[in-house]
Amino acid sequence: MAKKTEVLYAPHEQIEEMQLAGIKKTVIDCYEHIDFYKKSFDEAGFDPYSVTSLDDVARIPFVQKQDLRDAYPYGMLAVPLKDVREIHMSSGTTGIATVGAYTEHDLKIWGECFARGVEYAGGDENDVMHVAYGYGLFTGGIGAHYGGVAAGCTTIPMSAGNTERQIRVLREMGSTILCCTPSYAMHIADTALEMGLDPARDFHLRAGIHGAEPFSDNFRRDLERKLNYRVLDVYGLTETMGPGVALECWEQQGLHIAEDHFYPEIINPETGEVLPDGEWGELVLTTLDREASPVVRYRTRDITRIIPGQCPCGRTHRRIDRIHGRTDDMLIIRGVNVFPSQIEDVMKTFPQMSSWYQIEVDTDHRSLDIVTLKAEPNPDVDLDSMAAVERLQRQISAAMKTALSVGVKVKLVEPKTIPRSEGKAKRIVDLRKEK
Ligand code: ADP
Ligand code: ZN
Repeated sequence: MAKKTEVLYAPHEQIEEMQLAGIKKTVIDCYEHIDFYKKSFDEAGFDPYSVTSLDDVARIPFVQKQDLRDAYPYGMLAVPLKDVREIHMSSGTTGIATVGAYTEHDLKIWGECFARGVEYAGGDENDVMHVAYGYGLFTGGIGAHYGGVAAGCTTIPMSAGNTERQIRVLREMGSTILCCTPSYAMHIADTALEMGLDPARDFHLRAGIHGAEPFSDNFRRDLERKLNYRVLDVYGLTETMGPGVALECWEQQGLHIAEDHFYPEIINPETGEVLPDGEWGELVLTTLDREASPVVRYRTRDITRIIPGQCPCGRTHRRIDRIHGRTDDMLIIRGVNVFPSQIEDVMKTFPQMSSWYQIEVDTDHRSLDIVTLKAEPNPDVDLDSMAAVERLQRQISAAMKTALSVGVKVKLVEPKTIPRSEGKAKRIVDLRKEK
Protein backbone atom coordinates (compact mmCIF):
# COMPACT_ATOMS: atom_id res chain seq x y z
CA MET A 1 0.00 0.00 0.00
CA ALA A 2 1.38 3.38 -0.97
CA LYS A 3 1.57 5.56 2.11
CA LYS A 4 -0.23 8.82 2.68
CA THR A 5 1.97 11.35 4.43
CA GLU A 6 -0.39 13.31 6.71
CA VAL A 7 1.39 16.66 6.54
CA LEU A 8 0.84 16.79 2.78
CA TYR A 9 -2.90 16.98 3.39
CA ALA A 10 -2.85 19.33 6.42
CA PRO A 11 -5.11 22.41 6.26
CA HIS A 12 -3.07 25.28 4.84
CA GLU A 13 -3.53 27.39 7.99
CA GLN A 14 -1.73 24.67 9.89
CA ILE A 15 1.11 24.73 7.37
CA GLU A 16 1.31 28.51 7.70
CA GLU A 17 1.65 28.16 11.48
CA MET A 18 4.55 25.75 10.91
CA GLN A 19 6.06 28.20 8.45
CA LEU A 20 5.85 31.11 10.84
CA ALA A 21 7.45 29.08 13.62
CA GLY A 22 10.17 27.92 11.22
CA ILE A 23 10.90 31.43 9.95
CA LYS A 24 11.10 32.87 13.47
CA LYS A 25 13.61 30.23 14.46
CA THR A 26 15.62 30.42 11.24
CA VAL A 27 16.10 34.20 11.22
CA ILE A 28 17.29 34.13 14.83
CA ASP A 29 19.60 31.18 14.15
CA CYS A 30 21.08 32.94 11.15
CA TYR A 31 21.47 36.23 13.00
CA GLU A 32 23.17 34.63 15.97
CA HIS A 33 25.43 32.20 14.11
CA ILE A 34 26.25 33.61 10.68
CA ASP A 35 28.15 36.89 10.30
CA PHE A 36 26.64 37.63 6.91
CA TYR A 37 23.08 37.68 8.26
CA LYS A 38 24.01 39.71 11.34
CA LYS A 39 25.51 42.37 9.10
CA SER A 40 22.78 42.22 6.48
CA PHE A 41 19.89 42.38 8.99
CA ASP A 42 21.55 45.18 10.96
CA GLU A 43 22.23 47.19 7.81
CA ALA A 44 18.63 46.81 6.66
CA GLY A 45 17.33 47.71 10.13
CA PHE A 46 15.56 44.36 10.37
CA ASP A 47 15.16 43.06 13.92
CA PRO A 48 15.13 39.23 13.77
CA TYR A 49 13.27 39.03 17.09
CA SER A 50 10.38 41.07 15.73
CA VAL A 51 8.70 38.57 13.40
CA THR A 52 5.09 37.96 14.37
CA SER A 53 3.40 37.09 11.08
CA LEU A 54 4.25 35.84 7.60
CA ASP A 55 3.66 39.40 6.35
CA ASP A 56 6.85 40.39 8.15
CA VAL A 57 8.91 38.26 5.79
CA ALA A 58 8.76 40.94 3.08
CA ARG A 59 10.82 43.20 5.40
CA ILE A 60 13.75 40.79 5.53
CA PRO A 61 16.68 41.43 3.15
CA PHE A 62 17.46 38.87 0.46
CA VAL A 63 20.50 36.66 0.22
CA GLN A 64 22.04 36.10 -3.20
CA LYS A 65 24.21 33.46 -4.78
CA GLN A 66 27.22 35.78 -4.67
CA ASP A 67 26.84 36.14 -0.87
CA LEU A 68 27.07 32.36 -0.56
CA ARG A 69 30.10 32.28 -2.85
CA ASP A 70 31.81 35.00 -0.84
CA ALA A 71 31.31 32.91 2.29
CA TYR A 72 33.07 29.89 0.76
CA PRO A 73 33.88 27.45 2.28
CA TYR A 74 32.29 27.52 5.73
CA GLY A 75 31.11 31.10 6.23
CA MET A 76 27.41 30.25 5.99
CA LEU A 77 27.43 27.39 8.52
CA ALA A 78 24.98 27.83 11.40
CA VAL A 79 26.40 24.88 13.37
CA PRO A 80 29.93 23.82 14.36
CA LEU A 81 31.68 21.75 11.69
CA LYS A 82 31.69 18.73 14.00
CA ASP A 83 27.89 18.55 13.59
CA VAL A 84 28.08 18.50 9.80
CA ARG A 85 27.74 15.02 8.32
CA GLU A 86 27.87 15.79 4.62
CA ILE A 87 28.90 18.51 2.22
CA HIS A 88 27.69 19.10 -1.32
CA MET A 89 28.55 21.77 -3.84
CA SER A 90 26.64 23.21 -6.75
CA SER A 91 27.70 21.97 -10.15
CA GLY A 92 28.97 25.45 -10.92
CA THR A 93 26.93 25.80 -14.12
CA THR A 94 27.06 29.56 -13.79
CA GLY A 95 30.35 30.17 -11.95
CA ILE A 96 32.09 29.37 -8.68
CA ALA A 97 30.49 26.62 -6.62
CA THR A 98 28.37 27.20 -3.54
CA VAL A 99 28.40 24.88 -0.55
CA GLY A 100 25.48 23.04 1.02
CA ALA A 101 26.14 21.39 4.39
CA TYR A 102 23.89 18.88 6.17
CA THR A 103 23.56 17.70 9.75
CA GLU A 104 22.11 14.27 10.43
CA HIS A 105 18.69 15.92 10.79
CA ASP A 106 19.10 17.76 7.46
CA LEU A 107 19.94 14.51 5.68
CA LYS A 108 16.86 12.85 7.13
CA ILE A 109 14.62 15.68 5.93
CA TRP A 110 16.24 15.56 2.51
CA GLY A 111 15.50 11.84 2.17
CA GLU A 112 11.91 12.37 3.34
CA CYS A 113 11.36 15.22 0.89
CA PHE A 114 12.62 13.30 -2.13
CA ALA A 115 10.70 10.21 -0.96
CA ARG A 116 7.53 12.23 -1.53
CA GLY A 117 8.30 11.92 -5.23
CA VAL A 118 7.95 8.16 -4.88
CA GLU A 119 4.69 8.65 -2.99
CA TYR A 120 3.46 11.06 -5.69
CA ALA A 121 4.27 8.39 -8.25
CA GLY A 122 2.12 5.95 -6.28
CA GLY A 123 5.27 4.04 -5.41
CA ASP A 124 6.47 2.24 -2.29
CA GLU A 125 8.79 -0.54 -1.14
CA ASN A 126 7.74 -2.67 -4.11
CA ASP A 127 9.54 -0.29 -6.46
CA VAL A 128 13.04 -0.60 -7.82
CA MET A 129 14.54 2.88 -8.11
CA HIS A 130 17.31 3.32 -10.63
CA VAL A 131 19.32 6.45 -9.84
CA ALA A 132 21.25 7.72 -12.86
CA TYR A 133 21.89 11.25 -11.62
CA GLY A 134 25.59 11.74 -11.02
CA TYR A 135 26.75 10.77 -7.52
CA GLY A 136 29.29 13.03 -5.86
CA LEU A 137 29.25 16.70 -4.97
CA PHE A 138 26.24 17.26 -7.23
CA THR A 139 23.13 16.89 -5.09
CA GLY A 140 21.21 14.95 -7.75
CA GLY A 141 22.51 11.42 -7.21
CA ILE A 142 22.79 11.29 -3.44
CA GLY A 143 19.54 13.22 -2.91
CA ALA A 144 17.55 10.82 -5.06
CA HIS A 145 19.34 7.94 -3.38
CA TYR A 146 18.34 9.06 0.12
CA GLY A 147 14.81 9.49 -1.22
CA GLY A 148 14.71 5.98 -2.60
CA VAL A 149 15.98 4.53 0.65
CA ALA A 150 13.58 6.63 2.76
CA ALA A 151 10.65 5.51 0.58
CA GLY A 152 11.69 1.90 1.12
CA CYS A 153 12.50 1.30 -2.55
CA THR A 154 15.14 -1.11 -3.71
CA THR A 155 17.59 1.60 -4.69
CA ILE A 156 20.24 1.11 -7.38
CA PRO A 157 23.08 3.68 -7.25
CA MET A 158 24.00 3.64 -10.94
CA SER A 159 25.25 7.23 -11.15
CA ALA A 160 25.46 8.77 -14.64
CA GLY A 161 27.35 7.41 -17.62
CA ASN A 162 27.96 4.12 -19.42
CA THR A 163 24.57 4.28 -21.08
CA GLU A 164 24.52 0.74 -22.47
CA ARG A 165 25.14 -0.61 -19.00
CA GLN A 166 22.33 1.59 -17.66
CA ILE A 167 20.03 0.01 -20.22
CA ARG A 168 21.12 -3.50 -19.30
CA VAL A 169 20.50 -2.85 -15.62
CA LEU A 170 17.13 -1.20 -16.28
CA ARG A 171 16.05 -4.34 -18.11
CA GLU A 172 17.59 -6.99 -15.93
CA MET A 173 16.75 -5.50 -12.54
CA GLY A 174 13.23 -4.58 -13.59
CA SER A 175 13.61 -0.95 -12.51
CA THR A 176 10.24 0.77 -12.09
CA ILE A 177 11.36 4.33 -11.29
CA LEU A 178 14.12 6.13 -13.17
CA CYS A 179 15.78 9.18 -11.64
CA CYS A 180 18.11 11.32 -13.77
CA THR A 181 18.11 14.58 -15.70
CA PRO A 182 15.50 14.69 -18.48
CA SER A 183 18.22 15.09 -21.09
CA TYR A 184 19.99 11.98 -19.86
CA ALA A 185 16.68 10.08 -19.82
CA MET A 186 16.27 11.10 -23.48
CA HIS A 187 19.76 9.83 -24.26
CA ILE A 188 18.99 6.53 -22.53
CA ALA A 189 15.71 6.28 -24.45
CA ASP A 190 17.28 7.06 -27.83
CA THR A 191 20.13 4.63 -27.21
CA ALA A 192 17.71 1.86 -26.20
CA LEU A 193 15.67 2.42 -29.35
CA GLU A 194 18.83 2.38 -31.46
CA MET A 195 19.76 -0.94 -29.86
CA GLY A 196 16.48 -2.28 -31.20
CA LEU A 197 14.80 -2.50 -27.80
CA ASP A 198 11.12 -1.89 -27.26
CA PRO A 199 10.85 -0.12 -23.92
CA ALA A 200 7.21 -1.17 -23.53
CA ARG A 201 8.30 -4.80 -23.70
CA ASP A 202 11.85 -4.71 -22.40
CA PHE A 203 11.58 -2.23 -19.51
CA HIS A 204 9.29 -2.14 -16.49
CA LEU A 205 9.39 1.59 -15.90
CA ARG A 206 6.32 3.26 -14.41
CA ALA A 207 7.68 6.66 -13.54
CA GLY A 208 10.62 8.93 -14.15
CA ILE A 209 11.51 11.56 -11.58
CA HIS A 210 13.44 13.99 -13.72
CA GLY A 211 14.75 17.45 -12.98
CA ALA A 212 17.81 19.61 -12.32
CA GLU A 213 17.26 21.39 -15.65
CA PRO A 214 14.31 22.84 -17.53
CA PHE A 215 12.48 20.70 -20.07
CA SER A 216 9.41 21.55 -22.08
CA ASP A 217 6.01 19.81 -22.10
CA ASN A 218 6.62 18.51 -25.61
CA PHE A 219 9.99 17.11 -24.58
CA ARG A 220 8.22 15.37 -21.71
CA ARG A 221 5.58 13.82 -23.99
CA ASP A 222 8.28 12.53 -26.32
CA LEU A 223 10.13 10.95 -23.40
CA GLU A 224 6.94 9.38 -22.03
CA ARG A 225 6.15 7.89 -25.41
CA LYS A 226 9.64 6.51 -25.89
CA LEU A 227 10.02 4.94 -22.45
CA ASN A 228 6.36 4.10 -21.88
CA TYR A 229 6.18 5.69 -18.42
CA ARG A 230 5.04 8.88 -16.74
CA VAL A 231 7.48 11.72 -16.16
CA LEU A 232 7.31 13.74 -12.94
CA ASP A 233 9.33 16.90 -12.52
CA VAL A 234 11.56 17.47 -9.49
CA TYR A 235 13.08 20.77 -8.48
CA GLY A 236 15.86 21.60 -6.10
CA LEU A 237 19.09 23.48 -5.75
CA THR A 238 22.27 23.06 -3.75
CA GLU A 239 21.72 26.30 -1.85
CA THR A 240 18.52 25.11 -0.17
CA MET A 241 18.77 21.31 -0.10
CA GLY A 242 19.09 19.65 -3.52
CA PRO A 243 16.33 17.78 -5.34
CA GLY A 244 13.06 17.45 -3.43
CA VAL A 245 12.31 21.10 -2.65
CA ALA A 246 9.31 20.68 -4.98
CA LEU A 247 7.99 17.64 -6.81
CA GLU A 248 5.23 16.97 -9.25
CA CYS A 249 2.43 14.59 -8.36
CA TRP A 250 0.69 12.19 -10.74
CA GLU A 251 -1.61 15.00 -11.95
CA GLN A 252 1.34 16.73 -13.68
CA GLN A 253 -0.13 20.13 -12.88
CA GLY A 254 2.79 21.78 -11.15
CA LEU A 255 5.25 20.83 -8.43
CA HIS A 256 4.16 20.66 -4.79
CA ILE A 257 6.61 22.62 -2.68
CA ALA A 258 7.61 20.90 0.56
CA GLU A 259 5.91 23.75 2.39
CA ASP A 260 6.62 22.26 5.80
CA HIS A 261 10.34 22.76 5.13
CA PHE A 262 10.47 25.76 2.77
CA TYR A 263 8.69 29.08 2.61
CA PRO A 264 8.28 30.18 -1.02
CA GLU A 265 7.76 33.66 -2.40
CA ILE A 266 7.63 34.96 -5.96
CA ILE A 267 9.17 38.38 -6.50
CA ASN A 268 9.52 40.81 -9.33
CA PRO A 269 13.22 40.28 -10.15
CA GLU A 270 13.71 43.96 -10.93
CA THR A 271 12.04 45.57 -7.94
CA GLY A 272 12.15 42.78 -5.34
CA GLU A 273 8.46 43.30 -4.66
CA VAL A 274 6.48 40.20 -3.63
CA LEU A 275 3.98 39.13 -6.30
CA PRO A 276 0.58 37.54 -5.73
CA ASP A 277 -0.07 33.87 -6.52
CA GLY A 278 -0.46 33.28 -10.23
CA GLU A 279 2.07 35.87 -11.38
CA TRP A 280 5.36 34.82 -12.92
CA GLY A 281 8.57 36.01 -11.29
CA GLU A 282 11.66 34.85 -9.43
CA LEU A 283 11.34 32.17 -6.78
CA VAL A 284 12.67 33.11 -3.35
CA LEU A 285 13.08 30.41 -0.72
CA THR A 286 13.52 30.42 3.04
CA THR A 287 14.42 27.19 4.79
CA LEU A 288 12.29 26.43 7.84
CA ASP A 289 14.23 23.74 9.67
CA ARG A 290 17.57 23.46 7.96
CA GLU A 291 20.29 23.23 10.64
CA ALA A 292 23.66 23.40 8.87
CA SER A 293 23.01 25.67 5.87
CA PRO A 294 19.83 27.67 6.50
CA VAL A 295 18.97 30.43 4.03
CA VAL A 296 16.66 33.38 4.52
CA ARG A 297 15.01 34.74 1.39
CA TYR A 298 17.41 33.15 -1.03
CA ARG A 299 16.98 34.48 -4.56
CA THR A 300 17.03 31.37 -6.72
CA ARG A 301 17.00 33.28 -10.05
CA ASP A 302 14.56 30.62 -11.27
CA ILE A 303 11.47 31.90 -13.04
CA THR A 304 8.13 30.34 -12.10
CA ARG A 305 4.85 31.21 -10.42
CA ILE A 306 2.75 29.84 -7.60
CA ILE A 307 -0.24 28.10 -9.14
CA PRO A 308 -3.41 29.42 -7.53
CA GLY A 309 -5.93 26.95 -6.13
CA GLN A 310 -5.68 23.41 -4.90
CA CYS A 311 -4.30 20.45 -6.80
CA PRO A 312 -6.86 17.81 -7.86
CA CYS A 313 -4.77 15.24 -5.94
CA GLY A 314 -6.07 16.77 -2.69
CA ARG A 315 -2.68 17.63 -1.24
CA THR A 316 -2.62 21.08 0.28
CA HIS A 317 0.99 22.12 -0.28
CA ARG A 318 1.06 24.88 -2.86
CA ARG A 319 2.53 24.24 -6.29
CA ILE A 320 5.05 26.07 -8.40
CA ASP A 321 4.73 25.93 -12.16
CA ARG A 322 7.38 24.16 -14.18
CA ILE A 323 10.48 26.33 -14.20
CA HIS A 324 10.96 28.30 -17.41
CA GLY A 325 14.66 28.69 -16.71
CA ARG A 326 16.98 30.92 -14.78
CA THR A 327 17.23 34.62 -15.26
CA ASP A 328 20.86 34.09 -16.38
CA ASP A 329 19.70 31.91 -19.27
CA MET A 330 16.99 34.22 -20.48
CA LEU A 331 17.58 35.47 -24.01
CA ILE A 332 16.50 38.93 -25.00
CA ILE A 333 15.91 38.91 -28.73
CA ARG A 334 14.98 42.36 -30.04
CA GLY A 335 13.50 43.20 -26.69
CA VAL A 336 11.49 39.99 -26.29
CA ASN A 337 12.35 37.70 -23.37
CA VAL A 338 12.64 34.04 -24.28
CA PHE A 339 13.85 30.97 -22.42
CA PRO A 340 15.58 28.08 -24.20
CA SER A 341 12.84 25.74 -22.95
CA GLN A 342 10.24 27.78 -24.87
CA ILE A 343 12.29 27.45 -28.05
CA GLU A 344 12.54 23.73 -27.35
CA ASP A 345 8.78 23.48 -26.92
CA VAL A 346 8.11 25.02 -30.33
CA MET A 347 10.77 22.91 -32.03
CA LYS A 348 9.28 19.76 -30.49
CA THR A 349 5.93 20.40 -32.17
CA PHE A 350 7.68 19.22 -35.35
CA PRO A 351 7.62 15.41 -35.42
CA GLN A 352 10.67 15.45 -37.70
CA MET A 353 12.79 16.92 -34.90
CA SER A 354 14.76 15.03 -32.25
CA SER A 355 15.39 16.45 -28.76
CA TRP A 356 18.99 17.39 -29.46
CA TYR A 357 19.68 21.04 -29.96
CA GLN A 358 21.83 23.96 -28.93
CA ILE A 359 21.10 27.63 -29.08
CA GLU A 360 23.92 29.84 -30.29
CA VAL A 361 23.85 33.49 -29.34
CA ASP A 362 26.01 35.93 -31.23
CA THR A 363 25.92 39.63 -32.09
CA ASP A 364 25.69 41.20 -35.52
CA HIS A 365 27.64 44.27 -36.69
CA ARG A 366 25.09 46.52 -34.96
CA SER A 367 25.64 44.66 -31.66
CA LEU A 368 22.15 43.17 -31.80
CA ASP A 369 21.75 39.58 -30.63
CA ILE A 370 21.34 36.91 -33.25
CA VAL A 371 20.00 33.59 -32.04
CA THR A 372 20.52 30.41 -34.02
CA LEU A 373 18.89 27.13 -33.14
CA LYS A 374 21.09 24.25 -34.20
CA ALA A 375 19.07 21.08 -34.07
CA GLU A 376 19.15 17.48 -35.19
CA PRO A 377 16.24 15.99 -37.11
CA ASN A 378 15.27 12.45 -36.09
CA PRO A 379 17.64 9.96 -37.74
CA ASP A 380 14.80 8.24 -39.62
CA VAL A 381 13.56 11.47 -41.22
CA ASP A 382 14.19 11.61 -44.92
CA LEU A 383 15.52 15.04 -45.84
CA ASP A 384 16.92 14.06 -49.19
CA SER A 385 17.52 17.48 -50.74
CA MET A 386 18.85 20.84 -49.66
CA ALA A 387 15.46 22.24 -50.60
CA ALA A 388 13.75 19.92 -48.11
CA VAL A 389 16.19 20.93 -45.38
CA GLU A 390 15.69 24.61 -46.10
CA ARG A 391 11.93 24.23 -46.15
CA LEU A 392 11.89 22.60 -42.72
CA GLN A 393 14.28 25.24 -41.36
CA ARG A 394 11.97 27.97 -42.62
CA GLN A 395 8.89 26.27 -41.17
CA ILE A 396 10.43 25.95 -37.71
CA SER A 397 11.64 29.52 -37.84
CA ALA A 398 8.16 30.72 -38.81
CA ALA A 399 6.63 28.74 -35.95
CA MET A 400 9.01 30.52 -33.52
CA LYS A 401 7.90 33.85 -34.89
CA THR A 402 4.23 32.97 -34.46
CA ALA A 403 4.50 31.36 -31.02
CA LEU A 404 7.16 33.51 -29.39
CA SER A 405 7.33 36.65 -31.54
CA VAL A 406 11.05 36.27 -31.99
CA GLY A 407 13.30 35.79 -34.96
CA VAL A 408 15.32 32.61 -34.50
CA LYS A 409 17.50 31.28 -37.31
CA VAL A 410 17.22 27.53 -37.62
CA LYS A 411 20.05 25.34 -38.82
CA LEU A 412 19.53 21.60 -39.09
CA VAL A 413 22.66 19.62 -38.30
CA GLU A 414 23.69 16.01 -38.85
CA PRO A 415 22.44 13.39 -36.35
CA LYS A 416 24.71 12.92 -33.31
CA THR A 417 26.61 16.16 -33.75
CA ILE A 418 25.09 17.89 -30.71
CA PRO A 419 26.89 16.64 -27.58
CA ARG A 420 24.86 14.17 -25.47
CA SER A 421 24.69 14.93 -21.80
CA GLU A 422 24.82 12.56 -18.88
CA GLY A 423 23.88 15.33 -16.47
CA LYS A 424 22.63 18.79 -17.27
CA ALA A 425 22.56 19.53 -20.99
CA LYS A 426 24.41 22.60 -22.23
CA ARG A 427 21.69 24.33 -24.19
CA ILE A 428 23.25 27.73 -24.78
CA VAL A 429 26.49 28.46 -26.56
CA ASP A 430 27.23 32.12 -26.01
CA LEU A 431 29.62 33.28 -28.71
CA ARG A 432 29.37 36.85 -27.42
CA LYS A 433 31.49 35.87 -24.40
CA GLU A 434 34.16 34.44 -26.65
CA LYS A 435 34.66 37.67 -28.58
P1 ADP B 1 24.16 24.88 -10.54
O1 ADP B 1 23.52 26.20 -10.17
O2 ADP B 1 25.62 24.93 -10.52
O3 ADP B 1 23.58 24.25 -11.77
P2 ADP B 1 22.59 23.07 -8.87
O4 ADP B 1 22.91 21.67 -9.21
O5 ADP B 1 22.36 23.41 -7.47
O6 ADP B 1 23.81 23.94 -9.35
O7 ADP B 1 21.36 23.50 -9.76
C1 ADP B 1 20.20 24.08 -9.29
C2 ADP B 1 19.52 24.77 -10.43
O8 ADP B 1 19.11 23.83 -11.44
C3 ADP B 1 18.24 25.47 -10.04
O9 ADP B 1 18.48 26.72 -9.49
C4 ADP B 1 17.53 25.54 -11.39
O10 ADP B 1 18.01 26.61 -12.17
C5 ADP B 1 17.91 24.25 -12.05
N1 ADP B 1 16.84 23.26 -11.83
C6 ADP B 1 16.77 22.35 -10.85
N2 ADP B 1 15.65 21.61 -10.96
C7 ADP B 1 14.98 22.07 -12.04
C8 ADP B 1 13.74 21.73 -12.69
N3 ADP B 1 12.98 20.74 -12.26
N4 ADP B 1 13.38 22.47 -13.75
C9 ADP B 1 14.15 23.47 -14.20
N5 ADP B 1 15.32 23.83 -13.66
C10 ADP B 1 15.74 23.14 -12.59
ZN1 ZN C 1 -1.02 17.22 -6.58
